[in-house]
Amino acid sequence: MIFPHKTASWTLRSQLRTLLILSGLLVVLFSVLGGWWLHQFNTKNNQLLNTSQTLSNDLEKNFQDSRLLTEIQTELDIYMRSAPLGILHRIHTHAETLRLGLPPELKSQLASFIKQLDILEIRMNSFRQNNDTIFSIEREILEETDNLLMTIPFEFNRQIRQISGRACLKHHYLYKNIILTDEQADLKLTTREYEQMFIDIENKINELKKRLPKESIAGLKKFQNAFYELDESILTVIAIRRVTLETKNDVNSKLSSLRTAVAEASLAQANILAKLTQSGMDFLKNNLLAISAIMVTMAALGAVTALFLSQTMVKPLIAFTNMLKKMTRMLSGLRSENEFEEDFSALLESMTDQRDDEIGQVATAVKQLLLRLRELAIFRQDIEADETSAEVYQRMARIFNERLHLTSCIIFELTPDGKIMRPALRQITLSGIELPEISLTDECRARRNNNIVSSFKDSHTCSMFPIADRVRHVCIPMQISGQVIGLVQFLFSPEDVEHNERQISESLVEARHYIAEALPVLHAKRLTVRLQIMATEDPLTGLYNRYYLENSLERLVAGAKRRKSNICILMCDIDHFKNINDTYGHDAGDKVLQQLAGILLRSVRKTDFVIRFGGEEFMILLVDCNTQKAGEMAERIRFHVQTDKFHIPGHAIEMTVSIGTAKFDGTTDQDIWDNFKSADIALYRAKENGRNQVVHYNDTTDNMKQLNLPELRDTTHET
Ligand code: GH3
Ligand code: MG
Ligand code: MG
Repeated sequence: MIFPHKTASWTLRSQLRTLLILSGLLVVLFSVLGGWWLHQFNTKNNQLLNTSQTLSNDLEKNFQDSRLLTEIQTELDIYMRSAPLGILHRIHTHAETLRLGLPPELKSQLASFIKQLDILEIRMNSFRQNNDTIFSIEREILEETDNLLMTIPFEFNRQIRQISGRACLKHHYLYKNIILTDEQADLKLTTREYEQMFIDIENKINELKKRLPKESIAGLKKFQNAFYELDESILTVIAIRRVTLETKNDVNSKLSSLRTAVAEASLAQANILAKLTQSGMDFLKNNLLAISAIMVTMAALGAVTALFLSQTMVKPLIAFTNMLKKMTRMLSGLRSENEFEEDFSALLESMTDQRDDEIGQVATAVKQLLLRLRELAIFRQDIEADETSAEVYQRMARIFNERLHLTSCIIFELTPDGKIMRPALRQITLSGIELPEISLTDECRARRNNNIVSSFKDSHTCSMFPIADRVRHVCIPMQISGQVIGLVQFLFSPEDVEHNERQISESLVEARHYIAEALPVLHAKRLTVRLQIMATEDPLTGLYNRYYLENSLERLVAGAKRRKSNICILMCDIDHFKNINDTYGHDAGDKVLQQLAGILLRSVRKTDFVIRFGGEEFMILLVDCNTQKAGEMAERIRFHVQTDKFHIPGHAIEMTVSIGTAKFDGTTDQDIWDNFKSADIALYRAKENGRNQVVHYNDTTDNMKQLNLPELRDTTHET
């Protein structure tokens, strides 16, 4: 059977290559993605760092500004209370320092603050001057009071002191309010109280005017004028104080708007930082999510790849390897064929049908191999059971013809002497061609070179092939243990070769497997035959030996009895053979023995048996023969020996033989060994009677007689 080839298209190699390409693409993709993310991360990180640094600087500056503003505020408050010397200069210095670090929009606010500060200083200066004036007016009031007290009658002293004292006390109380208060409302209230105080003083003085003597009136007027002056100065101071307060509020509001602006700037910076931090955190979170997603994807891809590899490659490979292991065991003869059928045929079938890759290919190859092995094993079993080589050849020819379509072949077999190869089987179906039967000598190219010889390319490749023009041949030598024991010659018409050369070549490959399988069996059969021959053949003469006689006697006797015929026995002994040995040597004696064997073989029929019974003594068994014919045959032998020349090195000598004959009668119950003894007795008698004669042992008369043989009669005797 020629097996078809299976080709794989979706091979394991292409599957792996696809996997590698996909993995490579994924690696490139994720590398690019990873690089991009890293770049993004770095950019964000740098942004965050820079912004944080900037914000930190800004916050520090804002803190400094706030501190300066607080100091300005504190010093301004002190200035407003007591206006100590040098404090305005410090405020200016702070404001200058502050101005250097402020953004342009706040610088204008600071400028307007400083301008207000200048106005405030003018107001404060004016306040200080009027304050001094008030002190001098107070002194004047006290002086005028004293003056008046000296000029007025004593009973008015108390009233004057009261007016002056209460006015002073009230004035100090109210004036303290004017200086200390920061509220316009307080100022208004104090102003009204001052008005009331001055109205009361005016009323009291006017009452006194009416009651005082005229000489005291001038002093009283001075006293009154001093209060007028105070009233006027107080009004001025209050007015100054009012605008000063306004200016101060203005300054304060400028200052507080500056502080607010600085605080807002800090707040804005803090917001920016918070937003930036939040976006950084978001970016990190998103990146982490993406990285986690990629890792999960990669793990899933790895798992899918592993599953794919496991399902499509690893698992089938493991199953296949296990099957191959078991198959190896099975092929080693450890398991039976049936077990294989159950275990693997289903697996092999499924792999062959379903898989389109190398495993499918290998499975197909394994299946074909197993089928082939099984066929070969069955063939081997069959030929081992065959009895002869001829049967084996027939079986081979049948397989060549039926399974491999090699319809014409000749199987040659080496002859036992190893000289030529004779056709043992001829199966020729080439129409119109008569192929002569030839034997192959050493000229046979395949035999000589122990190589396959084909005439497909060169029709005259072998000189031995008789009709090379009309027939193509392929000779496959059967060689074992270094010896070519036969040859199978396949024959084809040239047209067949031309059209089907490929198929023929495949068939020839298969045929070689069958020939190789048959070789050991043929060799064993050949050895068996040789062993049989060696066991039954006398090596010197090539005749049967005594062992053969003993083994085949039963069969011969049974045949004779079945056919109710005779077996005639001729016991033949060379006369004075010892002399030959003594005279010409042992080798010369051997030559004589070989030549005598030839005479004996030529003298008998093919169905008869010539046996070297021992030394120079021979037994001839003539199957289905009567006494008369046996006597004639014995006489012919005796005559030939006597007349033939025996050639030994350097000599041609003459020899004679004595023959005793006896008969085994298949119709009786005789023991053939008794007949052998009788033949021996007859031989002994022939020797006694003078040798070179035939003596027959007559069992019916129980004596021996010389046979009556007219033609060859020259030295015969009768006992
Ligand atoms: P006779 O006529 O009485 O038979 O005398 P013979 O000399 O032939 O008989 P004998 O039994 O005295 O001698 C037989 C001799 O045959 C003795 C032995 O050396 C010789 N012989 C036996 N076998 C062989 C053999 O294989 N080769 C040779 N060359 N001589 C053999
Ligand atoms: Mg003898
Ligand atoms: Mg003898």
